[in-house]
This record gives sequence, C-alpha cells and structure tokens, in this order.
Amino acid sequence: MRGFRMSSKMGKLFVVSGSSGSGKGTVLDALFKMSDNFCYSVSATTRPPRAGEKEGVDYFFVSREQFIDMIEKGEMLEYAEFCGNLYGTPKKFVAEQLAKGMNVILEIEVCGAMQIKEKIPDAVLIFITPPSFEELKKRLHDRGTETDEAMEERLKTALTEIKFAKEYDYIIVNRTGESEKAARDILAIADGTYVKDAQAQEILRNFMN
Ligand code: 5GP
Repeated sequence: MRGFRMSSKMGKLFVVSGSSGSGKGTVLDALFKMSDNFCYSVSATTRPPRAGEKEGVDYFFVSREQFIDMIEKGEMLEYAEFCGNLYGTPKKFVAEQLAKGMNVILEIEVCGAMQIKEKIPDAVLIFITPPSFEELKKRLHDRGTETDEAMEERLKTALTEIKFAKEYDYIIVNRTGESEKAARDILAIADGTYVKDAQAQEILRNFMN
C-alpha cells in the first residue's frame, strides 16, 4: 500500500459510498453512537457550507486554489470532482488513526472509492443504497438543501453511481426508518458476521431499468 505501512495492530479502512439520498450520513451517525472503534475522516471540499455545517466537523471548506495546493503537496489520499466541486481525503489523519488501531470511515463518492480500492486493496468497500428510486427522489426533495437544478444533477449522478455498486465488497440497503439496522450491518461486516441482504441485487437492478 503506497504511503501507508500496515501492521497487524492497524485499524481497518472502510469506504462508505452511496448516492445523495441514500441516507449514508444518518447511518454513519448511528454507527458512531453504537461503537467507539470507528472514526470519521473529515474531507476537504470546495463546496460552500450548507446551513448548519461546521468547519472541521462536516468538512474542511477550502478554496479551489487551496485544494489544488493540497493535491500538489501530496496531502490527499484520494480526490474527485462531484457535481462541480472538489472533494478529497486528507492523508495524514487517516494514516495516524489506522496506526493507532482505529477503524477509519471514508464517506466518499465512487471515483474516490475506486482510487482507494486500487491503492489500498485491504480497504473494505461498502455501498449504501436507498430501497427504490422513488424513495431516493423523495429523500432528496424532503431534504430541501439543493436547488431544483442541483437536485436534478444529483439524481442523474445517483443513477450513474449505482452502476458502480458491483465494484464494492458489500451492498447495504438503507430502508426508510431502518438506519440503525444499516449501521448494525456495518458493525457486522467489521466483525465478520454480516449476512448478505437477499433483496439488495434486485433493488440495484430496479435502479438500472
Ligand atoms: P455532499 O456535497 O452531499 O456533502 O457530498 C457529495 C458527495 O461527495 C457525496 O457522495 C460524498 O460522499 C462525497 N464526498 C465527500 N467527501 C469526499 C471525499 O473526500 N472524497 C470523495 N471522493 N468524495 C467525497
């Protein structure tokens, strides 16, 4: 693995992806309440903060120039452009936490996830899907953080992202009102007791049609 030295005491790296509206944020909030063995890698982004988002908690909000400077200095473990903004994972925090034996969660989109898969084959890739396209549209609409145009773009991107689900090690369905169940699924993946969701493949197929 480039840039990281692995030892048996190291934590594991988990990549969690899911389209806008998959509810991955809520699932991860539930996971962090359930377990102290996971920490969240705060990404850098050029996207402006949404109402209520905090610097250093939700993201490190940076200018495009600052972001490019971080890339050029080799400070990013991965990065990608998503709906017109840059997003990336600062390398240092991840390396430090893994070395301490913490499991680290990267909540990132599919292009970044594919970079991690190539660089760090030991990483566990988890794709979170909503139960249906209708539910996805409803969640995005109810969230109300995007303009109609941005929402349309996120919906289109969501369908493209779902095509990448087959590249992931695990597919978790985040059914409405069951985000704690999805969080427990991640815990089960981590301790090797996860039982596959029998409906996941069919749900993904329905998105493609
Ligand atoms: P949002 O604007 O909704 O916060 O995030 C948009 C997308 O960017 C989400 O799919 C989110 O997971 C992804 N994202 C957040 N941080 C990173 C990152 O560091 N790297 C990559 N590749 N994607 C990220």
